[in-house]
Amino acid sequence: MDGMINYKVADRVAVITLNRPEKANAQNYPFLYQLNECWERAADDDEVTVIVLQAKGKHFSAGHDLAGTEYPKTDELRSQGKFDLTHHYRYELKHFLGYSLNWRNVPKPSIAAVQGKCIAAGLMLCWPCDLIVAADNAEFSDPVAGGLGIGGVEYHGHTWEFGARKAKELLFTGRTIDAYKAEQIGMVNRVVPLADLENETMALALEIAEQDPFALLQAKRAVNQTLDIMGFQTALQSVFDIHEMGHGAMWSRRSEGESRGSALERMKERNQEIAQRQRTEAKA
Ligand code: ZN
Repeated sequence: MDGMINYKVADRVAVITLNRPEKANAQNYPFLYQLNECWERAADDDEVTVIVLQAKGKHFSAGHDLAGTEYPKTDELRSQGKFDLTHHYRYELKHFLGYSLNWRNVPKPSIAAVQGKCIAAGLMLCWPCDLIVAADNAEFSDPVAGGLGIGGVEYHGHTWEFGARKAKELLFTGRTIDAYKAEQIGMVNRVVPLADLENETMALALEIAEQDPFALLQAKRAVNQTLDIMGFQTALQSVFDIHEMGHGAMWSRRSEGESRGSALERMKERNQEIAQRQRTEAKA
C-alpha cells in the first residue's frame, strides 16, 4: 500500500510508516483512515507477530491537520449549516478516541519509533503502542489545553503516561519534554541516537517476534487488563467528554464571533512563546 501510510511485512514484523513528511505527518481524515486499515491488517495477519509504527521525515507527527478537511462530509454539512456538535462528537469518538483505543487493544505487541516533534494528537499515535523507542531528538508536548482552551487531546493518556503531577505541569504550561526526561518518567522504553532509531527498533521487534505469539498476547493482556481494572479505558471515555465540553465552549465563542482562524493563530503564537521560553532556559 502506498499513500500517506506505507505498510510492509518481513520476518514476522509488520512495519507501518507514516508517510506525509512534507506536512510533518499531520493527521487528516484519509491519513487516519489508512492508518487504521494498516493496524487492522496487521492485527488479522497470521504472518505478523509484532507491529512497528514509524514515521518518515524529521518529525513523528505534528498532530491533527488543523488546516485540512476533517472528514469527507464536513465541508458539505458545513455549507448547508448542518454540521453541529453531534457530528463533531461522533467524528472524534470514532476517529480519534476510538481508533487509538483499537490500536492499543490489538492483541499483538507494538512498538513506536519516535523522532523529532510529537505534538498533541501525535501522542495519540505513539501512546497506544506497547513500547516506545525514542530518538535522542524526540520531543513530546500537548499544547491544546492553553492553546485552544481544551483540556488536552481526545485520548487522555497524560495522567497514565506522565504521572499526575507532570501531567498537570505539561498541560498547564504546554511545555515539551525531551526523550531523556520521557525515559526517566517511564513514558519511553529507551532513547537511541537518531541515526540508529530504525535499526534499534527493528532489532527489538525481531527479538520479540521470536517469542510465541500466544505468550505475547497473554503478557500484553495481563498488563492491559491490570490498567483497565485500575480504570484506564473508563477514565479515557470519561475525559473524552471533558474534551468535548471544551469544543462546546469553542463553538459558543465562535457563535459570538471568534473565527476558527483566530483561535488557531492564538495557539500558534502561544506555541512560539513557549518554545522561545524553553530555548532561553536551556541556554541559561
Ligand atoms: Zn477534539
